[in-house]
Amino acid sequence: MTQQNKKIIVAIDGYSSSGKSTMAKKLAADLGYRYIDSGAMYRAVTLFAMENGMIAPDGTVDEDALSEAVNSIHIDFALTSEGQHTLLNGKDVEHLIRSLEVSNHVSPVAAIHSVRKALTDRQQRFGVEKGIVMDGRDIGTTVFPHAEMKVFVTASPEKRAHRRYLELQQNGTPSSYEDVLANVIERDHIDETRKESPLRKADDAVVLDNSDMSLPQQEEWLMNLFNKTEAKVNGRDC
Ligand code: C5P
Repeated sequence: MTQQNKKIIVAIDGYSSSGKSTMAKKLAADLGYRYIDSGAMYRAVTLFAMENGMIAPDGTVDEDALSEAVNSIHIDFALTSEGQHTLLNGKDVEHLIRSLEVSNHVSPVAAIHSVRKALTDRQQRFGVEKGIVMDGRDIGTTVFPHAEMKVFVTASPEKRAHRRYLELQQNGTPSSYEDVLANVIERDHIDETRKESPLRKADDAVVLDNSDMSLPQQEEWLMNLFNKTEAKVNGRDC
């Protein structure tokens, strides 16, 4: 009887707009693994808070109201002809959650303990059967500290802002490059300095600085690391 290869958990963390999602999605598709965009989950909760009057015009979040509601918010992912889309209480919000307005509010929402707890629990449930690629900020440190493969992606703030700027244009929600750069820098700061699960490289994560790499180069790098890691896990290490 041939033994089946054990599936693994791949955790891809890093700075905003570093291209994590694109790489993670491609790797998952090539492997037949499930892909989970944990940032989309924080964005969906943020959109919910915005739509329900829980974010004041000055950006202050009503933490009590959101903490009470967060466990009953339903977030799911559906495969559409445009790829994987995020559903918030059954509604496709994929485009809405990528707007600069949501980006401007998401980091304070993601710093709230009850929000992190609720989403971390759900993310861990997605990984019970392994065979998953998840990207975010704390996947290798908090959500799956025992993930077999951990990557930490980084690139200069200017490169990342440029990528997000093009993405927003493609999505039909254009913003100025200066606004996008300011948002990238602000989110990095909040994500790195928050008390709970701050953005940091896990000690056993491999760093990928993709500032000067093409997409195919990044994909090849990631697949090579996966092949090495998976061979080791399955005792085919030489
Ligand atoms: O990855 P993306 O940029 O879409 O994430 C949006 C925001 O969600 C991040 O800036 C961060 O504040 C938050 N986030 C988080 N932990 C994760 C994923 C995202 O705090 N695992």
